[in-house]
Amino acid sequence: MRYYVGIDLGGTNIAAGLVGEDGTLIKQMSVPTKSGRSAREIVKDMASLAKKVAEMGEIPWENIEAVGVGVPGTANRDTGMVEYANNLGFYDEPMVSMLKEELPGKSIRFDNDANAAAWGEYVAGSGKGSKSMLAVTLGTGVGGGIILDGKLFRGVNYAAGEFGHFVIDRNGIPCNCGRRGCFETYASATALVAQTKEAMEQHPESLLWELCGKNIDLVEGRTLFDGVRQGDEIAKQVLSQFIEYLATGLVDLINIFQPEVLCIGGGISKAGDLLLKPLQAIIDKEDYAATSRNRTKITVATLDNDAGLIGAALLES
Ligand SMILES: [Zn+2]
Repeated sequence: MRYYVGIDLGGTNIAAGLVGEDGTLIKQMSVPTKSGRSAREIVKDMASLAKKVAEMGEIPWENIEAVGVGVPGTANRDTGMVEYANNLGFYDEPMVSMLKEELPGKSIRFDNDANAAAWGEYVAGSGKGSKSMLAVTLGTGVGGGIILDGKLFRGVNYAAGEFGHFVIDRNGIPCNCGRRGCFETYASATALVAQTKEAMEQHPESLLWELCGKNIDLVEGRTLFDGVRQGDEIAKQVLSQFIEYLATGLVDLINIFQPEVLCIGGGISKAGDLLLKPLQAIIDKEDYAATSRNRTKITVATLDNDAGLIGAALLES
């Protein structure tokens, strides 16, 4: 077995994982990022965390094949620079060369965190064994990654797979990117919560009010799914409309890429059949290749938060 270390650099925490070549996450640990510090200080912490996690797994440091890093920003793979990372206040930081100084002789791999997570899900999660996969993560926004013919497709500025920002309604809800009607303003977890609250305000009789202790500020994604499970009609309407929005975007992606697998991640994906069955029914109707023998398989992410660590560890050099 070959061993790798993956690092997931976040605005809040730096996580490191010891990962086997088969994608098994053997050990992991994390420390606070304390963002606002210099890139050099943060890189020193990343390097020492990488060594610690190898030690915890009792793998001698010289037996670690490579260290891979996922960063929350623009990761230029040609220059090894983090060109921009808003959460960390990084601007043109030579991440790879700094890591090479801290970890001499070690092969360093590098990508943005969304690509690393998509890659993890592809090599060790629900995309395992497929030739092409789209990862679509429904969170605060909608993020993702594109794997075509076994390789990450990164685009000219390393940020392809911004699935949150294609438009499903040109005159729709204003998006923070400056356009209107972007997919994530309808199909993210944030959008689901907003749609739930809007329906509650129109329907004081809805059971959803009981489920959030009559405090609308406490509504979460799960509040809606709880309402649906308890048979609340308003909750059912909100969910059904949300699934229509989601399906609209996903069918577009399926028609453009025809991936072998489309993997849905994020907390909402945990709703299981409540989400997937009606979603699949719309896709079966609207997919341009609906009558074809080979269809895109819709799956749910299986690695959750570990995908970023596993994917970073096993990034292509
Ligand atoms: Zn947008």
